[in-house]
Amino acid sequence: MNDRKEDSTDSELTPAMREKHAQLVADIRAHSEAYYQDDAPVVSDAEYDGLFQKLVALEEAHPELRSDGSPTQRVGAAPAQGFDKVQHAVPMLSLGNAFSAEDVGEFLARIRRFLSLDDGEALDIVAEPKIDGLSVSLRYEGGRFVRGATRGDGVEGEDITANLRTIEDIPDALAGAAPDVVEIRGEVYLPKSAFQKLNADQEAARAKVFANPRNAAAGSLRQLDTTVTAKRPLRVFAYTWGELADEVVETQWDFLQQVEEWGFPINPLARVCAGLEDILENYTALSDQRAALDYDIDGVVYKVNRLDYQRRLGFVSRAPRWAIAHKFPAEQATTVLRDIDIQVGGTGSLTPVARLEPVTVGGVVVSNATLHNEDEIARKDVRIGDTVVIQRAGDVIPQVVRAVEEKRPKGSKPYVFPTSCPVCQSEAVRDEDEAVRRCTGGLICPTQTVERLKHFVSRNAFDIEGLGAKHIVAFYEDGLIEGPADIFRLHSHRETLLEREGWGEQSADNLLAAIHERRQIALDRFIYALGIRQVGQATARLLARTYGTLAAWRDAMAAAQDRESEAWMDLLNIDGIGESVANDVLAFLHEEHTGQVLDDLNELLEIEAFEQPESDSELSGKTVVFTGTLERMSRSEAKARAEALGAKVSGSVSGKTDLVVAGPGAGSKAKKAADLGIETIDEDAWIALIGD
Ligand code: NAD
Repeated sequence: MNDRKEDSTDSELTPAMREKHAQLVADIRAHSEAYYQDDAPVVSDAEYDGLFQKLVALEEAHPELRSDGSPTQRVGAAPAQGFDKVQHAVPMLSLGNAFSAEDVGEFLARIRRFLSLDDGEALDIVAEPKIDGLSVSLRYEGGRFVRGATRGDGVEGEDITANLRTIEDIPDALAGAAPDVVEIRGEVYLPKSAFQKLNADQEAARAKVFANPRNAAAGSLRQLDTTVTAKRPLRVFAYTWGELADEVVETQWDFLQQVEEWGFPINPLARVCAGLEDILENYTALSDQRAALDYDIDGVVYKVNRLDYQRRLGFVSRAPRWAIAHKFPAEQATTVLRDIDIQVGGTGSLTPVARLEPVTVGGVVVSNATLHNEDEIARKDVRIGDTVVIQRAGDVIPQVVRAVEEKRPKGSKPYVFPTSCPVCQSEAVRDEDEAVRRCTGGLICPTQTVERLKHFVSRNAFDIEGLGAKHIVAFYEDGLIEGPADIFRLHSHRETLLEREGWGEQSADNLLAAIHERRQIALDRFIYALGIRQVGQATARLLARTYGTLAAWRDAMAAAQDRESEAWMDLLNIDGIGESVANDVLAFLHEEHTGQVLDDLNELLEIEAFEQPESDSELSGKTVVFTGTLERMSRSEAKARAEALGAKVSGSVSGKTDLVVAGPGAGSKAKKAADLGIETIDEDAWIALIGD
């Protein structure tokens, strides 16, 4: 651990912050993909916005974290497979967000500053309802509709022309005179009434039920089968343009009138506002009308009316400076919490779900809501039987906001979060710095088993040809494969395999041969295949390199369960393995079922000892510690070189250390090495040693 300190510079950007940044980026990407590509969000918009704001704040504090790939610099998500791609002539951007009157005031002030406008000078703003649908770009050439696309990542969208042609609101030809090239942009949405009917029909047909009208619209429009789209009564509001060959208007307001003349619906609630007061009054009025409208709106969009001003204001990375989205707060209601259920996710995460007395929130009946995690329940002190405030934000998964203490039934007790998995009864553990409690029965817990099996056979693990995710699910459902060892016993079920639809002698034998071929496996691949949390290929390799054989690794891990032991220190000393990873490895091995699974696999397979890289270097087999600053190569390069020559690199000095390489600034480690009489060399000697 000290090494890290010695590595860090004066900047306050710590490895923990980098890790946090990487985690936020990964989470936001995953949510965006679920939202934009699969039309099936897993968190509410408010939660997503919360993560996004955290990322923005972190990058503002440490701009060096901001790369072109960061979600703060990008729009939406890349186009999905299955559609042709369309390059947007003018990028389709997102909008900045305002959540309060102050934010809106600041937006106006910023614009005035930018344009050097005096207080007396007019700054008209067009306020348009923010339609919660999906934006499309519609290209007209010579007045005729030629191509339509989704926003995609803003630069490249999906070609959905055929689907868009089925929407009545979109004219085939523009009415009246129009420039040669016109790109109209607007929002495609599904009316609420149509959404309810669609979901009722879907449910009756046991087909996918959509979370909200936005997802239903997106799912309907991004259909590969146009006849499906044609059956969904999608509608459009036009509100802006992309490429436009000639200048046709001078203000946003005039554009709306023009686009209506060309034959598009525009939203009837748009209006021009003169200043902050006007804007806020309009916001309140729209907010009051919201529930009664037959389409979802999630805020109001403000746009500078004069286009010459818009041009001067321009853009910042992913949004125009001249527009902002003023979001509506979440809709709330009060009801009774009947029970708390614990759901187990694919990675073993235990998620508490509130079972509620059904209540209508913003026009939708809600009977379940998320409680996020153990700490949230404790922080809010939500108890079974409580009257609770729930809210829908972005309409996906309602959340429990707080308990109404005055209405708490007498004798109620704080909720105690289970410490075992409700599905398989294995112990459920939690890292100190983690919010989520997880089931450790990875190899036997049914909800996790399938995910783990998929990982087990994946490309970087066992890589079994012909045994894809689909087969795993099917074989699991039929009881042919219940755990990883069953894969290698599949040959004894050859007859059952042949009875399955789509399987013949040839395909069954090919699969069994492919499985047989993988009975021999390198230890690092094997460890990776186990799917231990936080153990990727690199960590699996470190473990294999350090312990050499499966038996040695298991013995060492059994000993390391005692956190006072030398084995525990040895595990922590592996450069690249921190306490959190070490805890996950031990929790996995501690689970009683793991032992059986490993025994079975060991019997069925030939797990090869880790082969140290062949090397006649003096370093081969030695344990090396680096300390202080290296000036001629980075710490990571030095480490990689040492490992390539067959050495193990450790983070701290102990009796097992063979060599210490000490650069300037080396402190306690060099001293300890001297005390223990361990050979210590400087960087020059190190360079000579590795033959550079
Ligand atoms: P946004 O939806 O906040 O705003 C930009 C969009 O508003 C435009 O692209 C356009 O489609 C739409 N819009 C509607 N009416 C408009 C009008 N009159 N004028 C101009 N534009 C109008 O931004 P975004 O980048 O599309 O998406 C980010 C938002 O999407 C998040 O704030 C979140 O609410 C949601 N989201 C949720 C998840 C999730 O997992 N729940 C994931 C990703 C995004």
